Amino acid sequence: MRKDIGKIIILGAGPTGLGAAYRLKELGYDDFIVLERENHIGGLSASFEDRKGFTWDIGGHIQFSHYRYFDRVMEKCLNREDWLQHKRDSWIWMKKRFIPYPFQNNIRYLPNEDTWKCIKGLIEASKKGMRGGKVRNFREWMFHVFGKGIAEEFMVPYNRKVWAHPLGQMSYRWIGDRVSVVDLNKVVEKVVMGKDDIQWGPNSTFKFPIKGGTGAIWKNTGELIGENKFRTRSEVRRVDPVKKELFLAGNKKIDYDVLLNTGPLDKFAGMVDNFPPALRKKAKTLKYSSVNVVGIGLKGKPRDELKKKCWMYFPESDCPFYRVTVFSNYSPNNVPDSKLYWSLMAETSESKYKPVSKDRIVKDTIDGFKATGLIENKSGIVSKWSYRASYAYPVPSLERDGILKDVILRLEKSELYSRGRFGGWKYEMGNQDHSFMQGVEWVDRVVSGKKEKTYSLK
Ligand SMILES: Cc1cc2nc3c(=O)[nH]c(=O)nc-3n(C[C@H](O)[C@H](O)[C@H](O)COP(=O)(O)OP(=O)(O)OC[C@H]3O[C@@H](n4cnc5c(N)ncnc54)[C@H](O)[C@@H]3O)c2cc1C
Repeated sequence: MRKDIGKIIILGAGPTGLGAAYRLKELGYDDFIVLERENHIGGLSASFEDRKGFTWDIGGHIQFSHYRYFDRVMEKCLNREDWLQHKRDSWIWMKKRFIPYPFQNNIRYLPNEDTWKCIKGLIEASKKGMRGGKVRNFREWMFHVFGKGIAEEFMVPYNRKVWAHPLGQMSYRWIGDRVSVVDLNKVVEKVVMGKDDIQWGPNSTFKFPIKGGTGAIWKNTGELIGENKFRTRSEVRRVDPVKKELFLAGNKKIDYDVLLNTGPLDKFAGMVDNFPPALRKKAKTLKYSSVNVVGIGLKGKPRDELKKKCWMYFPESDCPFYRVTVFSNYSPNNVPDSKLYWSLMAETSESKYKPVSKDRIVKDTIDGFKATGLIENKSGIVSKWSYRASYAYPVPSLERDGILKDVILRLEKSELYSRGRFGGWKYEMGNQDHSFMQGVEWVDRVVSGKKEKTYSLK
């Protein structure tokens, strides 16, 4: 172990900061502290209980993993019996019907003329694919890979709704296992044989805590690290990388030797004294979207069609949200009494391209529930909860990778590091498991010189 690093300050107690703190504790390195702006830990993965006793996440969070190390920590932070295991049951609501997810593998559910439009597009795309062709952005990638039918029917409207940014301004290089690409033979086989294909992807099974929502995971991880390692209500406002001092709101000064930021990189670059103005300006051009989460607690039971569903996607314009989770299906403890209540949680994206009225979002969401048949009327509503995450989705814009390289490498020259969903600004490595492991691997890098695997500036 390197002995000379001195005092490590971790800015932010979301999964990334917790990953770093957990690893330091595991290595027996005690000279560190986590500073958190809010009065709780968990970041975007925190949960809240409303006044009526309904539990809510900041949008539907599910637990799945790409790492054995992460799995082992999850096993330590909740006992086996405190995890519920789920099989994904997710759907797309469009054309007044539910279509199993992923859309492209289940187009037989569409009206015949639309199914044919999708197949024709796929055939044309596969012919063009053989001839090559230059794809410049996410929008073009969708047409190139899926063809006109699937792109126009689902991919473009859904992605426009979720990202809240023009798709032509987005890169497609982040996709990896985030979007199910398509196999023409398989698609046609499913249509002709009348079969569903719902197994795709790394989250086809997932876990959820029996009590306390997703936030319970991170509260317990915090307890494993030790309460004395966290200072909540401690917002970092300024960093002097020469004197190695940082300043909290109220101007309280704290010395450090190495600093890990896990909050939004654009804001962090603006806090560092004498950071080159051109780079500060570049960091400000990183794109992101916000999410408005609305949780609605309801009396009674969901109708039969919703009884097993996990989440549903909504590409059409009859509702503001892009996704709704039947949150009471994740755990009976997400509602005050599962015999009497159930719950729905909706996510609506927002950006300068897609403004959302703060005053109307709850009403618009409820109207959307009615318009899409999720509820019949408002009489069953017993609780309304809402939360706006201003930084929710780090948008993989065309310029992103160049900006990140310049800004992050310059910060590292001053022993300032930035990792995590918005600290590292890479959506494709921005889930809970990735974020936690970014923190773990960052510690292994600064403490023992190991190469980080999850976060890269390629
Ligand atoms: C709608 C939605 C749905 C999601 N669904 C899933 C899912 O199903 N599965 C999954 O694995 N992941 C999901 N995620 C991603 C998950 O929320 C993130 O992976 C995770 O929370 C990122 O952790 P982080 O620590 O990098 O960042 P954050 O969670 O954003 O934590 C950063 C922390 O830093 C603090 N902070 C910021 N600035 C300062 C400052 N100046 N001083 C002190 N503290 C500061 C913040 O208050 C926050 O607590 C979802 C995210 C969203 C928005």
